[in-house]
Amino acid sequence: MTATQVPGPTDVGSMYDRFNDLFTRHLGDNLHLGFWSDDQDGATAAEATDRITDMVADRLAPAPGTEVLDVGCGSGRPAVRIADRHRTHVTGITVSAHQVRLAHARPGAGPGAGRASFQLADAMALPFPDGRFAGAYAIESLLHMSDRAKAVAEIARTLRPGARLVVLDFYQDGGFSAPESDVMNPVFQAFRLPPLPCSGQYEQYMAAAGLEVTGLEDITGNVRRSHRLIADAMQNISDELDVDEETRGQIRRYVELNEIIGLHPEVHYALITARLP
Ligand code: SAH
Repeated sequence: MTATQVPGPTDVGSMYDRFNDLFTRHLGDNLHLGFWSDDQDGATAAEATDRITDMVADRLAPAPGTEVLDVGCGSGRPAVRIADRHRTHVTGITVSAHQVRLAHARPGAGPGAGRASFQLADAMALPFPDGRFAGAYAIESLLHMSDRAKAVAEIARTLRPGARLVVLDFYQDGGFSAPESDVMNPVFQAFRLPPLPCSGQYEQYMAAAGLEVTGLEDITGNVRRSHRLIADAMQNISDELDVDEETRGQIRRYVELNEIIGLHPEVHYALITARLP
């Protein structure tokens, strides 16, 4: 990908303005993968995606009455869930104006402990003072960012000593082969994704930002079922939708993306936990 093709926050925001509702409809109102313990696990997509939110919250363990940052909050379901269950205040940021509107309309939105508030902001230039938050988490949002090191440094800057950061995202062990890249490059462009980080890179960004990495949990095997479900759902919708050919093409590429990224043996999905000493 050349420098001019690397997506900026505005490009990512417009993509979610357009596609948010299509994605969340099939992911139990969330915009991330689901967790199944094994093949016998009968959890629905909604249950499995909420489980992921709860896993992030468990690792973050926010104290009641504190304020935590949700980096890339989507349309706000994880933030209101975590705020409610942990009696903390969650401040969610996204680059999609549509997502901010949807998030504001949630019953759990508002000021104070047990609720979540939302605003338009870029994680690579956070509009918050140093040391404001008692914790932060980023669920499948860093993957969109053109300067992930800057985003991690910005998040670390806004944390107070002792605060935790939990990142849940994809990374890649090796490169894609040339034929794979031919398929992947246009798909990554359509869905505003810079190339995935290599394994170990998030940990390096965290260390450079002064954070201490305390845990890495690879849950790639537990989320596999999500890719098939999403691909099937997206295919069905794209057949039914009254949309132009360009949009249909983008949806088709999204389906491809999910299958390729999700099932590629070198692509991992992991929870990384860190702490500001
Ligand atoms: N965490 C949510 C949404 C994941 S989708 C969930 O799990 O349901 C990715 C999110 O990251 C979107 O809300 C998108 O707007 C946000 N995002 C992408 N780039 C961003 C940036 N530079 N700054 C802030 N948010 C960003």
